[in-house]
Amino acid sequence: MAAWEENVRKVVPYTPGEQPKSKNIIKLNTNENPYPPAPGVEKALREIDVNEFRKYPDAETKPLVDVLAEYYQVKPEQVFVGVGSDDVLAMSFMTFFNSKKPILFPDITYSFYDVWADVFRIPYECQPLDENFQIRVEDYKKECGGIVIPNPNAPTGVAMELSRVEEILQRNPDVIVIIDEAYVDFGADSALALLPKYENLLVVQTFSKSRSMAGMRIGYAIGAPKLIKYLNDVKYSFNSYTMNMPALTLGVEAVKDEAYFRETLQKVINTRERVKGELKELGFVFQDSKSNFIFASHPKYSAKELFEELKKAGIYVRYFNKPRIDNYLRISIGTDAEMDELIAFLKKYMK
Ligand code: PMP
Repeated sequence: MAAWEENVRKVVPYTPGEQPKSKNIIKLNTNENPYPPAPGVEKALREIDVNEFRKYPDAETKPLVDVLAEYYQVKPEQVFVGVGSDDVLAMSFMTFFNSKKPILFPDITYSFYDVWADVFRIPYECQPLDENFQIRVEDYKKECGGIVIPNPNAPTGVAMELSRVEEILQRNPDVIVIIDEAYVDFGADSALALLPKYENLLVVQTFSKSRSMAGMRIGYAIGAPKLIKYLNDVKYSFNSYTMNMPALTLGVEAVKDEAYFRETLQKVINTRERVKGELKELGFVFQDSKSNFIFASHPKYSAKELFEELKKAGIYVRYFNKPRIDNYLRISIGTDAEMDELIAFLKKYMK
């Protein structure tokens, strides 16, 4: 190793799901929305004046902050916008998790948390989910440097009741508690309702799943004005212009169309509920999902083998070769036609 290498910040990076080049595949591996963004997004995109690109975008991300504040009935000072919720979460880790005590998150969870903890040198302790993949609230009643929990959890899809989220908040008034609600719109209760009571709560959401805009990279956090101020101080010390102009413009359009948003969500939810029944009939077992994916295991077929066979057939799902979950497939909810193909393949394969 060269001498200079000793002083390199070494990290094991997060591995995102595969984005295959071929268009002829059924892509159920990264929890994207199978439906397009709201029609107003396309219209606004066509109207964007590229001459505006000469200028820097709005550093305060004001149009998007304002529309989100109005939508969630909070003050603009309570909203922070970033480049996908990954950016918002990374900034939040950097801003709020500076204690010498370990932060807490589940052992089976979004696999970016330990990567950020490592890159920012934040000590952490994983708390094991119970055998039904439920979060054990008691595990979050100890001294710690902060807490981050996805609700619904990923990749399990399991949602936690709001009363249990509140129990965790009650027991942790001295640290920041981040609830990562990337999938909340698909059927869980948002912790936004608890904001008036807890100044140390930060709720993080995204346009990537329920608003069909993963490619635009828009995420946001909502919390007490003091928290948002601290987040912005770190952001401006890092990169003032995180959000590009098209993302700011198009994000606003996505929020404006409530009817389209509700209709699309309902379609995904209906498909999910139908597919749950069909997977059960095929012998799959899984906890109830409140997200846009199902995390399923089969007592007779190896998940790894199914994953590989599905891939050969052009159907991509996600497989994690990790302790406790190495016999599970995470299957994103696609269109009805895509899910029909998945089920047809499984039926044939399992015959
Ligand atoms: N949180 C969770 C739990 C996720 O699964 C994801 C998606 N990979 C994210 C956050 C980040 O999503 P995005 O950056 O697209 O908003």
